[in-house]
Amino acid sequence: MKVSKVLALVLAVVMCAMLCTACGGTKSGETLTMGTNAAFPPYEFVDENNEIVGIDAEIAAAVAEKLGMTLEIKDMAFDSLITAVDQGAVDIVLAGMTVTEERKESVNFTESYATGVQVVIVPVDSDIATIDDLTGKKIGVQSGTTGDIYCSSAPEDGGYGEEAVSRYDNGALAVTALSNKQIDCVVIDNEPAKEFVKANEGLKILETEFAVEDYAAAIAKSNTELLEKVNGAIAELKAEGKIDEIISKYIKAE
Ligand code: GLN
Repeated sequence: MKVSKVLALVLAVVMCAMLCTACGGTKSGETLTMGTNAAFPPYEFVDENNEIVGIDAEIAAAVAEKLGMTLEIKDMAFDSLITAVDQGAVDIVLAGMTVTEERKESVNFTESYATGVQVVIVPVDSDIATIDDLTGKKIGVQSGTTGDIYCSSAPEDGGYGEEAVSRYDNGALAVTALSNKQIDCVVIDNEPAKEFVKANEGLKILETEFAVEDYAAAIAKSNTELLEKVNGAIAELKAEGKIDEIISKYIKAE
């Protein structure tokens, strides 16, 4: 082989390798690994076939399909999701996760795909009628959630203080503690609240609402390429009516 031919070959191989690295973590046919906490119905829960299903699982599957990727879901504690995506243990988090300024310091959020509202679950015979009655009460929350952050903040910041709050690994455990009278109320997102009240007798949701929040997917700050692709896919899915279709499959209008 002539020297020039060898050189051309070497160059071609080097250019190929460069092209491949430029594709980063979103090559077609690759796996999109999603982190979630599958105890947050109807966004994510384990069904009777032992599979993780729900709004977030379906939206993530539709996004993965648009990107030509295969979705894999990893179930973990809610309060370890930000670290998991930041450190690359998962590519993306969909977990009914609220966009907050504090979380934005660690991760990037996609466009929002849903809204949530913090509500208060109490026993039907509770003397708690509004959020003003929560002072001095034992409040159950899911560890690391916005409900936890609001309630455990100092009274001058609109919260009830650290000592008012009992933390649980998931909403179902908090609701069980409420049914067992170990706490006086649970502060949690409205849609899971409805599911938990349906599944447990003697509980109700207060009319007063805490805070309206935006849910979005979280992606590592270093992976801006994936962020752009997922935002593109979400925009298309919204325009096609697919996001609304998935949400209304799990949340029936009242
Ligand atoms: N939306 C709440 C938050 O982001 C709760 C989410 C959850 O428990 N999965 O903190």
